[in-house]
Amino acid sequence: MRNAQEFDVEIYRGYAIHVPYSPFKIGDEVALHAFPDGGIVVNALGTIVETGSFKQMRLRHPRARIIDRTGCYLIPGFVDCHVHYPQVYMIACYGEQLLDWLNLYTFPEEARYKDPLYAKQAAKVFFDELIKCGTTTANVFGSQFILAMEEAFLEAERRRIRVIMGLNLSDRNIPEALRLTPEKAYTLSRTLAKKWHKRGKALYAVTPRFAPVCTPEMLRVCGKLLAESPDYRLHTHANENSGEVEWMKTKELFPKQSYMEVYRRFGLTGPRSLFAHSIYATPQEVALMARTGCRVAHCTSSNFFLGSGHFPMRRYVEAGIPFGIGTDIAGGTGLSMLKELERAYGCQMILHASDPKLAYRLSGTKLLYLATQAGAETLGLGDVAGSFLSGRAADITVLNPARETYLPERMRNCSTPAEELFVLCIAGASHLVQEVYTGGQIAYRAK
Ligand SMILES: [Zn+2]
Repeated sequence: MRNAQEFDVEIYRGYAIHVPYSPFKIGDEVALHAFPDGGIVVNALGTIVETGSFKQMRLRHPRARIIDRTGCYLIPGFVDCHVHYPQVYMIACYGEQLLDWLNLYTFPEEARYKDPLYAKQAAKVFFDELIKCGTTTANVFGSQFILAMEEAFLEAERRRIRVIMGLNLSDRNIPEALRLTPEKAYTLSRTLAKKWHKRGKALYAVTPRFAPVCTPEMLRVCGKLLAESPDYRLHTHANENSGEVEWMKTKELFPKQSYMEVYRRFGLTGPRSLFAHSIYATPQEVALMARTGCRVAHCTSSNFFLGSGHFPMRRYVEAGIPFGIGTDIAGGTGLSMLKELERAYGCQMILHASDPKLAYRLSGTKLLYLATQAGAETLGLGDVAGSFLSGRAADITVLNPARETYLPERMRNCSTPAEELFVLCIAGASHLVQEVYTGGQIAYRAK
């Protein structure tokens, strides 16, 4: 039986700031919820009760224990919509675009995860690094090896990180060591999903790497798996890099249909499906994605690093396609969502200068929204995580500007919360993360 103590509440005191609704739809001013001396009330089950000014929250919950973080910003834990666990040890591999980069660096590295000890150690480092960057929910691209996946699910669970994850599937145009037959892909995916889907905070994602390394039979198996549960997810790549898009059109692959049409044909498009990148989707493909409810992860630093291109953000907003931000290591150059926001801003500025119809000048409100609530909605978790609204998990990232020498003074030069938030998103970095709470429990504390 639970004792009364467990039902006592806590108030996290600090500069509480969150963006629970889309500023793209309702405008920045209404979307931004900022409480300079704020209080986030959390119950003993780790769920947010309410959020407001500290004074008001204190009056309403006079017996609550106070977790005082005055001087710090309290933001919802970041939601990373696309990131590769078995690439944590290959960040910063030099000089190639996507296809050569995969062949030269990525495939040999991913083959090393056959060794469960290597995988175990990497999983530990990967999730340590993720939480250290303030990320509490992640859509993780998995390994091809079932034991490596077991290690990853375990490490995520240990840190109470909400993950969507699955076995990485491919059966052609990839080294033998990374291939699974469609039959094997089916049975191993089912085994993993049975054990991990909805265990704690984990959800299972059917994960074909991308269409060029999957035979039609493999894509058919993916469609079959996806149809077996109403809430499995689908996680893959599409329209990332011009070389890849050209390759898709060649005779050996799928010459007569668009990239997205291939996925649709195998039952892989829909509201549970996330396609990383989508830089080169044609207007017809964007329409297909909107019609079927597909989701997208925008990964700026990866798009820059691999020379892939600029994400036409406005096209996706106008089509009503949900999208969030992904760090996409090791195309991306680190696990920090703050760094990713700075890049996303720059990417949109460059694009805006040449074609304002494709891009936004992203405010701090829009940036924080993209890194939190938009990500949660993109992953079908909008009522579970991403904001400080009542009923959400108390996933709280504590940012302390004093961990950077110039930042406290820079903040004092701001005159509105929106301005402060912009500075935080652009000048912030993972070393500002002082603490991270998942479900109201401490998951990381900086030294
Ligand atoms: Zn990726």
